[in-house]
Amino acid sequence: MPRRKFVAGNWKMNTTIKSAVELARCLVAKIGQADMDLAVCPPFPYLLAVRDALAGSRIALGAQDVFYENDGAFTGEISAAMLKDAGCTHVICGHSERRHVIGETDEIVNRKLLKALGEGLVPIFCVGELLAERQAARTLEVVSRQVRLGLEGVSAADAARVVLAYEPVWAIGTGVVATPQQAQEVHALIRKLLEELYGPELARRLQIQYGGSVKASNARELLHCPDIDGALVGGASLKAEEFEGIVRAGL
Ligand code: PEP
Repeated sequence: MPRRKFVAGNWKMNTTIKSAVELARCLVAKIGQADMDLAVCPPFPYLLAVRDALAGSRIALGAQDVFYENDGAFTGEISAAMLKDAGCTHVICGHSERRHVIGETDEIVNRKLLKALGEGLVPIFCVGELLAERQAARTLEVVSRQVRLGLEGVSAADAARVVLAYEPVWAIGTGVVATPQQAQEVHALIRKLLEELYGPELARRLQIQYGGSVKASNARELLHCPDIDGALVGGASLKAEEFEGIVRAGL
């Protein structure tokens, strides 16, 4: 069976409650029934309002991060159970801004991934190399390490629910998009690694999104590469027409 495409919007630390609800309503009207896996990840305080705006559509609700403990004295953190309670089905784990701005390690990302899976959430597990790492021909090494350590202790049954996102850090929010060849090459490597870890059948089934300056105008050629199964979209997901254009490019 061919893999379904999956386009997710990461709204990052943007929108107000009003603009978040408006954006969600607009997306519901434009692509709410599109035959594709879809999700949006608003800021935490707007999850409930966006959940209500998405009701009845095929657009899933995701969070941008999760903490790896269940509850207790962890000021400012949000548990997987809380996300589930708020209506989330998806959560981004290991986004490069959390790795490189906040300082999350592979071990922390792994703990978050395990906790999300344990709660029944679908983790959108992000990996990707820095520009200096690509220039030093270390892309494969870095991405392999992130995939291996991130998935440590994840059973095959749980791995079947993971979505990967290859997001070269030099392409995120920079307007510099990876060429379809560059992206496809790394996606194929990730799939090969997944095959080593979980066998060919699971590796064939797992969705691997590309992320990094995806727009309506460049989405088609990326989304039709053999190992690219969708997109994780930052900036362009804040404009309903752009996000719609990306989704339509993948249909
Ligand atoms: C992202 O934040 O995951 C992302 C890919 O951002 P942008 O589309 O803005 O590059």
